[in-house]
Amino acid sequence: MTGSAYWSSLASSLRPYIPGEQPRERKFIKLNTNENPYPPSPKVIEAINNTATEALRLYPDPSSTALREAVAERWSIKREEVFVGNGSDEILAFAFAAFFETRGNEALLFPNITYSFYPVYAALWNIVFKTPALTADFSINPEDYKQKSGGVIFANPNAPTGRALDRKTLKEIAQAQEKNKKVFIVDEAYIGFSHESGMGSMVPFIKECPNLLVVRTLSKDASLAGLRSGYACGSEELIQGLYRLKDSFNSYPLDRLAQAASIAAVRDSAYYDKINRRVCQTRDRTQEVLISMGFDVIPSQANFIFASPPVSSKSAETGAAWFLEALREKGILIRHFKQPEIKNYLRISVGTDEDMDAFLAACREIIS
Ligand code: PMP
Repeated sequence: MTGSAYWSSLASSLRPYIPGEQPRERKFIKLNTNENPYPPSPKVIEAINNTATEALRLYPDPSSTALREAVAERWSIKREEVFVGNGSDEILAFAFAAFFETRGNEALLFPNITYSFYPVYAALWNIVFKTPALTADFSINPEDYKQKSGGVIFANPNAPTGRALDRKTLKEIAQAQEKNKKVFIVDEAYIGFSHESGMGSMVPFIKECPNLLVVRTLSKDASLAGLRSGYACGSEELIQGLYRLKDSFNSYPLDRLAQAASIAAVRDSAYYDKINRRVCQTRDRTQEVLISMGFDVIPSQANFIFASPPVSSKSAETGAAWFLEALREKGILIRHFKQPEIKNYLRISVGTDEDMDAFLAACREIIS
């Protein structure tokens, strides 16, 4: 439905985000929404089972104190420097409203190619934004984000390109924005798959950079997309700003099961290091095979691969969309974005080795 007389002008004006397909049947190999192919830590399942008791009749802790303490302990920061939310999407929605001005004089900055929920949040809260273009090789040009602005947000590694900036460069952006007391949000949804030197989480820098908010999800590197949990780390001022939004919206965003499970996940880094190392090995191997097949592959620091299939007459108009359809017919789901700059590229989430072997075999058949 595109309109209704019952809708407010706000509801009528929205252009909601469309997430990747979640098929009801299980016949597909799902490489389209960047889920982790391995199960969550057994300790997470144990925590959920232990929490599924008659105590569910009681409301959960509204501020998720024990979970915030677990996150604080993991990063050697204070509980007051941690916010938790119902998935990082919820945290991002609050952060846009908490830190970026409605109809502000200075535009919020994010790249033209990045997580496609950002323009949706900006429209929801009426935030003026500008989208500097990525460079020809799909990198973020850091200089674009040091100028005077209403604030800055991007994903690092960026989505759907998989390219990342190093921590020194990110710190320089934070410092440039601090001069005008503007907030820099780094969305680290995929940082758990980024192991090159100089890369890594910005959480340790929140002490030096009071305007830096680091947003994390448990959906990807903690294999808990079905649980809906994430957190943000930043100065107490920023965290209190987020709580003002949350406490004006929903007292209990994380239920008892999600709080207990998230604590177990945050504490079990040994398990997650193991499965995520495996995801990275599978990614690197798959990238090499794709290159040998003639794909143009952007080297990924995330749990997905961004690649363009060998040029074909079929791709002249639709870009790589036809390739997605051809894979779908073979039972494999991936993602394609229509923006002209990236229409020749596909985003392929990294699955198990068997998933990727099936994907590579299907690619071989399609391009032969
Ligand atoms: N940020 C980025 C860059 C993402 O790709 C996603 C997942 N679509 C999210 C945030 C949201 O993750 P979640 O709400 O599952 O925590």
